[in-house]
Amino acid sequence: MTVAVALREATARLTETSDTARLDAELLMAHALGVSRSDMLLRHMSDDAPAGFASLVDRRVHREPIAYILGDAEFYGRRFIVTPHVLIPRSDSECVVEAALAVAPDSGRALDMGTGSGALLITLLAERPSLVGVGIDASLSALSVAAANAARLGVVERMHMLRADWHEHGWSDDVGQFDLIIANPPYVETTAQLDPDVRNFEPASALFAGEEGLDDYRAIIPQLRQLLTEGGAAVLEIGASQAAQVTNIAEKNGFSAELRCDLSGRPRALILR
Ligand code: GLN
Repeated sequence: MTVAVALREATARLTETSDTARLDAELLMAHALGVSRSDMLLRHMSDDAPAGFASLVDRRVHREPIAYILGDAEFYGRRFIVTPHVLIPRSDSECVVEAALAVAPDSGRALDMGTGSGALLITLLAERPSLVGVGIDASLSALSVAAANAARLGVVERMHMLRADWHEHGWSDDVGQFDLIIANPPYVETTAQLDPDVRNFEPASALFAGEEGLDDYRAIIPQLRQLLTEGGAAVLEIGASQAAQVTNIAEKNGFSAELRCDLSGRPRALILR
């Protein structure tokens, strides 16, 4: 069977699973061939389809996210390694980067709470060459993904990784203060209806935050007072319906909160000062 025919068949199989069936099939085929997608479309359509393609399509039919199958995902114009130990970076979170760049000093220290793949902090460090950063995560497996990404994207000398859990007392005793703090903490309600692609494959520890999805904001925001330098700011990603509740938690802790929206106009980030 040629690549062209295999792509048609795979697209038909994937239409029930995916809104982007043809694109998914092309990405999986390019991966199986070990070439770029454009190279495949230009040069390889009449080659024999590689043996490994069918099993990649099977994984996608069972709802495994494309990013985990390919092992990487694009965020803010850069490619990040992803494994099932980290949340797949989403374009919604580019709003956090935009807000962080707007408030970041030219030089100074940044902290990323729950760094995961490192996508937020690494992007920030890549865009601001005089910032240094600390990425914390409770998961060692996540930190090793972040470290690999920091090395791959050329910021490893300016980024420290630390295993830490903000629910544990004393985790921040030795970390000092930061001019900028960013976080995309878990914020999904435990009972939320999520896509099987998300619920069955992405790490629950990066998604769920109690009945209201607010547990991690309640833990993080009171700690910001001690972690931020005078005049420092924090940028927190939030769920689309959480702006009022998280603003309320922020104000109770003495912060003002400024709302930022993502590309589709939904509330997506709060800047706390
Ligand atoms: N935006 C993600 C989702 O709904 C959630 C990310 C998070 O909890 N930090 O899939």
